Amino acid sequence: MSQASAPTRDSAGLVEGALRRLDGAPPEAVLGWAFEAFANDRVQLCTSLQHEGVVLIDMAVRVNPQVRIFTIDSGRLPQATLDLVDEVRDRYGIGIEVLYPEGTEVSALVSEHGPNLFHRSPELRLACCDVRKVRPLGRKLATLDAWITGLRRDQNTARDDVRSVAVDAVHGGIVKINPLAAWTADQVLAYVADNHLPRNALYAQGYTSIGCDPCTRPTEPGEDPRAGRWWWEQGARECGLHYELRVDETGATRVAPQRVGGHRAGAQALVPELEDA
Ligand code: SF4
Repeated sequence: MSQASAPTRDSAGLVEGALRRLDGAPPEAVLGWAFEAFANDRVQLCTSLQHEGVVLIDMAVRVNPQVRIFTIDSGRLPQATLDLVDEVRDRYGIGIEVLYPEGTEVSALVSEHGPNLFHRSPELRLACCDVRKVRPLGRKLATLDAWITGLRRDQNTARDDVRSVAVDAVHGGIVKINPLAAWTADQVLAYVADNHLPRNALYAQGYTSIGCDPCTRPTEPGEDPRAGRWWWEQGARECGLHYELRVDETGATRVAPQRVGGHRAGAQALVPELEDA
């Protein structure tokens, strides 16, 4: 698995200062800090084109028209998400860098376990997420000092520790910037409506969190917003992009950062058959 490079600056001190300066600041101020603190080729906005991602793109292009944006196409995305990539590109006149998994790794995984391996076991589900999402992200983050995400604290109980600026211990200690950390779902929806932002068509079909097509379903009223992700599993509704995961008796489980030791450790061990892929 690719490893993020060591940070090129004192991430911890930078984050501490930013948190003091940005306490209670709006997302645009957090973005402004990010674009001041890092060279434009060393910070990028990562989006999966969900509501939060489009809100951030809308804010970021106003703050910094040269903002660099990337998304990860796992190869299993819904058509509606791909359509939205085009819509966002056209609306803002921007490019969106699209990251793909390594073809040889996907081929080895699918040839060994079949195209729908994620239903066979939590280990294979994480292996699929690892090859199709986590590794492409790791390769990108190894070239950056900071990345910007749409994480919010109230998306899921597993995310209640999200801060607006943090050291990303999972990716080599670079800086992770989450301008919407304190925003509620209602604030996001209000921004989308007030600014007439493009939306993924799947939201109108009852989806409340949108990932890969075979691993996402609509949710029922009152369900956790991420309950439609890997709904057949009991464990964490995470793919490993933001947290180190392991498998225990409940399924995928988040590993506390201190157990990670500042680098990714778990998913590779889950799929030893891929080490040579
Ligand atoms: S969400 Fe599903 S299809 Fe997408 S990478 Fe993860 S397991 Fe594979």
